[in-house]
Amino acid sequence: MEFDGSLLIQCNDHVKLSPETKHPQRMTLHCLQCNSVLGDSVGVCGEAEFMDCIMCLKVTDDVVVSEAMESRHKGEMANCIYSSLKCRGCRSVVGKVIHSAPSHLAAVRSIFLLYKANINCYILNSSSMVKASTLTFDLKTFRESLLEVRQQFEEQLDHMSRIKSRLADRSVTSELEK
Ligand SMILES: [Zn+2]
Repeated sequence: MEFDGSLLIQCNDHVKLSPETKHPQRMTLHCLQCNSVLGDSVGVCGEAEFMDCIMCLKVTDDVVVSEAMESRHKGEMANCIYSSLKCRGCRSVVGKVIHSAPSHLAAVRSIFLLYKANINCYILNSSSMVKASTLTFDLKTFRESLLEVRQQFEEQLDHMSRIKSRLADRSVTSELEK
């Protein structure tokens, strides 16, 4: 059997990832008042809907944690001890970090919570500035895009194992042809 390389070319075509593969929107988070960069989508880990906050694991140095600890006795923040987060540029309050909270708020403890109402987002893909309140930072959307990527990988893997078995078949055939 003459080797013409067509099979290899065929493989390459199949393995190529489709260009329309979706990624979570990449963005930077800015102070609504003075546009200082406060964080980016890499540091975002979800949204605390009941507080209207973006949850961030990481923020920039322009987010200052106030030394004063506050606490509330009523409402969602009852029995919590927290500090306000301020923008270094304009000193306005942009969020809070909860140091101690009852168990139902355990998920937001020690996480930087940025008030959606005080944040603008610069979307890198579309080069546009939008209000954070118009976007959703729900962890679900991030998880969904991860699942989507995983599914694509599994499909590719499936494809490759089919190609592999086809190749094995061919080598068996050529063995017999000898
Ligand atoms: Zn500011």
